[in-house]
Amino acid sequence: MDFALSEEQQAIFDMAHSFGQDNIAPHAQQWEREGTIPKALWPEIAALGLAGLYVPEEHGGSGLSRLDATLVFEALSMACPSVAAFLSIHNMCAKMLSAFGSDETREKYLPKALTMETVFSYCLTEPGSGSDAAALKTKATKTNEGYSLTGTKSFISGGGYSDAYVVMARTGDDTARGISALVIEDGTEGLSFGGLEDKMGWRSQPTRQVQMDGCKIPPENLLGEEGKGFKYAMMGLDGGRLNISACSLGAAQTALTATLAYMHDRKAFGQSIDQFQALQFRLADMEIELQAARVFLRQAAWKLDTQAPDATQFCAMAKKFCTEAGSRIVDQCLQLHGGYGYLADYGIEKLVRDLRVHQILEGTNEIMRMITARAMLAK
Ligand SMILES: Cc1cc2nc3c(=O)[nH]c(=O)nc-3n(C[C@H](O)[C@H](O)[C@H](O)COP(=O)(O)OP(=O)(O)OC[C@H]3O[C@@H](n4cnc5c(N)ncnc54)[C@H](O)[C@@H]3O)c2cc1C
Repeated sequence: MDFALSEEQQAIFDMAHSFGQDNIAPHAQQWEREGTIPKALWPEIAALGLAGLYVPEEHGGSGLSRLDATLVFEALSMACPSVAAFLSIHNMCAKMLSAFGSDETREKYLPKALTMETVFSYCLTEPGSGSDAAALKTKATKTNEGYSLTGTKSFISGGGYSDAYVVMARTGDDTARGISALVIEDGTEGLSFGGLEDKMGWRSQPTRQVQMDGCKIPPENLLGEEGKGFKYAMMGLDGGRLNISACSLGAAQTALTATLAYMHDRKAFGQSIDQFQALQFRLADMEIELQAARVFLRQAAWKLDTQAPDATQFCAMAKKFCTEAGSRIVDQCLQLHGGYGYLADYGIEKLVRDLRVHQILEGTNEIMRMITARAMLAK
């Protein structure tokens, strides 16, 4: 058993970290205020091979492992978890195109997904179904020209911003086996968007409803087989859960590093506040929790990479553990900054807001417990 990163993995982390520090961190607060991420950023990220992280090389991707990908997301989220998490969603879609798309679908969409000329969003949630995603109602009715897509997706990261959407829709019965995955392009007749959601965090990412009304979808835009869309969507989520965990850890590391420096400089009662043992214990607790979360995340990623039978359970457990640890740490870091932690200039309050949603999306942490408990009971 070897817990060290390889030289190549360290280089991947360093490359993503330095890109984030140079090109994302200086602008993160401004993008949050503007409520959007400049589209010009994405081709630069794609040029580093970060748009198709686990798309195999023969399909033009980087062919990295899930563990490698967590390093990228941890490194980028040290600059801004909202930007990093958005890239994770695009990667999830790119992987779905590569893994399940026919040759024709891949040729049509993958090259531009890998350069991020086409930015992708993932549309599963609906106004009436979130955790119970298989209850979705969006319908794709077969026509002579392909499909006619009608329904509403809610909370879509990149809604009204992205260039194309992977949409899970019903082509068959009311069960999970009646769901298929289809690609719809921006500009399709009948495709419209709700108003911009006013959110607590992830504010640089536009979130809107995606509304489809009789949208004509060509047959080659069906990913894989009819009726397998829910399975594909869930397979994407295992990796998504690892990525979102990594985003929590990167942001928590940034907050902890900043807090150490702040506590050294800040004086109270005649000494640096890092000299109070009660606060030192809190620093130690945060470090222990962060290190434990990182090891757990990498173990879960390794399970997914090696297709271990309990990979889904481990991805769920790591997601619950890491996202809650991340939120606890950034909240403590805010507290240790005193009143300054509450000010936007110090960058900590943004992390508290950004990380909160990691406990809700990619499956809520209650659902992560449900997956874990079911696996325990099945044994
Ligand atoms: C900022 C943001 C961005 C998002 N981006 C996307 C996106 O890009 N694409 C997309 O498809 N979705 C996206 N989502 C949606 C997200 O995945 C859902 O919000 C999430 O899955 C929860 O669904 P819900 O909001 O309908 O809550 P519900 O499913 O209604 O859950 C409400 C509460 O009940 C709990 N609960 C539900 N069922 C159970 C159960 N069986 N046992 C115990 N507790 C349960 C939940 O944990 C939660 O606490 C996004 C959400 C947000 C907030």
